Amino acid sequence: MQFKLCESVINGFKFGCQICGNCCKGKKEGYIFIYKPDLEKLFEYFKCTTEAKKHEFAKKHLEIISQNFVYKDNNTDVKKNYYYDTLVFKLVGDNEECCFLGEKNMCKIYSGRPFQCISYPVWRIILTIKKNWDENLKKCKGINHTNGEFFSKKRILDILKKEFQLEKDFFLEMKAHNFKIKEVYPFLEYINID
Ligand code: SF4
Ligand code: SF4
Repeated sequence: MQFKLCESVINGFKFGCQICGNCCKGKKEGYIFIYKPDLEKLFEYFKCTTEAKKHEFAKKHLEIISQNFVYKDNNTDVKKNYYYDTLVFKLVGDNEECCFLGEKNMCKIYSGRPFQCISYPVWRIILTIKKNWDENLKKCKGINHTNGEFFSKKRILDILKKEFQLEKDFFLEMKAHNFKIKEVYPFLEYINID
């Protein structure tokens, strides 16, 4: 998979989180997707050792929304855009905050937080679309911060590859289950999708 980085980041950039909390709020800003390795980490963090405990966790903190993924099947030359259910963290309150955002913008599950939180702002949707990069530049005080860590092009591409692989693995698993998320995650049983 090739990623076409926008001009502004092609030579890398500096980043150091300033704990403003902006990236943890707002549906418009994007949801935090939770993939299988994230779930395993969260279940370990919250000691959800039984299906019942996993179910309780999901009911309290997770939501199911639609995601899309562009994929070309082996037996065809045409890329197809698939839409299917995926898991995200619930957003709560008037500010639509992540359910784990704590006081002073601290993350309540810092060591258990998912890949997408760890990797922000190194997301494909931000670094390959200039308009999105510019918007995030305004929103995130950590981007281009003088005291930030340097993210080289290689480091960026390694993170984007990992992000893509997570999405692809989940897509293929969903596809193998006819896009029925409750078959991929049996602990979701009894949670309303709509
Ligand atoms: S928006 Fe940027 S500075 Fe603010 S919490 Fe998120 S990563 Fe940190
Ligand atoms: S899990 Fe933590 S870092 Fe991730 S969006 Fe929620 S509060 Fe922010």
